[in-house]
Amino acid sequence: MARSKRKVGAGRQVPSGGSPRGAGAGEVSREQAEDAVRTLLRWAGDDPGREGLLETPKRVVSAYADWFSGYAVDPREYMRRTFEEVEGYDEMVVLRDVAFESYCEHHMAPIIGRAHVGYLPSNKVVGISKLARVVDGYARRFQVQEKLTAQIAACIDEVLKPRGVGVVIDSEHQCMTTRGVHKRGVSMVTSRMVGIFRSDARTRAEFLQFIDIRGARAI
Ligand SMILES: [Zn+2]
Repeated sequence: MARSKRKVGAGRQVPSGGSPRGAGAGEVSREQAEDAVRTLLRWAGDDPGREGLLETPKRVVSAYADWFSGYAVDPREYMRRTFEEVEGYDEMVVLRDVAFESYCEHHMAPIIGRAHVGYLPSNKVVGISKLARVVDGYARRFQVQEKLTAQIAACIDEVLKPRGVGVVIDSEHQCMTTRGVHKRGVSMVTSRMVGIFRSDARTRAEFLQFIDIRGARAI
């Protein structure tokens, strides 16, 4: 178990241990990132030199490589391999409850939520796991929820060219639950409707009925 865990971590890191984006010239080194964590530990009032914290900068930087692995991928690439033989299937395809973790770009705090993705194919459909990968590809970056919602919809629209796309995201922002107003159990819902999902109320209603969400905040 521990071995396979290490393998996953190692697979995500670039050889130099640089940022998830890769180790291009001028990028921050792993050592610099670890130093930044030590600075924050000191600033918080602790001693980065005490035993319990010695390995922490290393672990935090490895965690960042995982949490922000989205910068290294182009989610549109996940969609390129489409399956066109759909035997005339032209009804809505909906993937609901895609769990994701993202990070708010204002506080670098987790956004934990679920995405619901639907589209009405024209002549192309895509494997449903690809839709989930698109969600992760954009979620694993610093985000604002409205942008995340719009990026997922735009990606599907651009590559599949369907008759319409709908994306609804429902999530909890830890910058709101663990600090500031400290309000737990508050979820934020955003939606992006494209094509027939936007122009046709019945299509939109059908999608919202599928995912069982009412009153999504349109953007
Ligand atoms: Zn925030």
